[in-house]
Amino acid sequence: MNDYALSRRRMVQEQIQARGIRDERLLKAMTEVPRHLFVDEALWTQAYNDHPLAIGEGQTISQPYMVALMTDALGLTGKERVLEIGTGSGYQTAILARLCDWVFSIERLTPLSRRAQRVLEQVGVFNVNLRVGDGSKGWPEEAPFDGIMVTAGAPEIPQPLLQQLGEGGRLVVPVGDRYLQTLYRVTRRGQELVKEDLGGCRFVDLVGQYGWKA
Ligand code: SAH
Repeated sequence: MNDYALSRRRMVQEQIQARGIRDERLLKAMTEVPRHLFVDEALWTQAYNDHPLAIGEGQTISQPYMVALMTDALGLTGKERVLEIGTGSGYQTAILARLCDWVFSIERLTPLSRRAQRVLEQVGVFNVNLRVGDGSKGWPEEAPFDGIMVTAGAPEIPQPLLQQLGEGGRLVVPVGDRYLQTLYRVTRRGQELVKEDLGGCRFVDLVGQYGWKA
């Protein structure tokens, strides 16, 4: 086993399992997906540490535990169509792709989307469609979705995302001010939307029509 594979196993045991994540498929995906390839080579040795890292353009790849927590909250079984807002490095996209049928992921910054596309191909992830644009409006042509994950902080829950959530579907989204947010899970049950508080978090801004103004 190489050093990165060992670092990954430790990351999963000490940061993910130790904090209560039990989903075996998720733990396996995080043990196998080479997170370091999604950051700049100068940061490879830090890629399995317990914090976010810079990915350029003022953006960050989320802390491993936050990726696990948000993915776990979607409760994926393998059959779902999932929408991700904020492709960023593509790491979260790769984890989702291992756990559901198809991932649609939107990123507003072209250079990040291009780089993510390259790395995803390099690691053999093909059940994804990437798009450059304002993800706060969702991806109406592909709706409804079984799961929607927003990996940037929003001032309020973007209405189009609620509309694009299918029956029984789950939306995970950080909502709050620019410094601190609450992670919410919203589940659609018919006309009813059930909202749960999953705790505090801190994300970069969701910038767009239903997010912060640029
Ligand atoms: N899941 C990513 C997180 C990247 S940070 C990862 O782990 O690497 C959040 C990303 O959301 C940034 O790349 C930012 O450019 C992007 N973003 C912000 N507002 C957006 C919007 N309205 N639509 C799409 N992407 C957006």
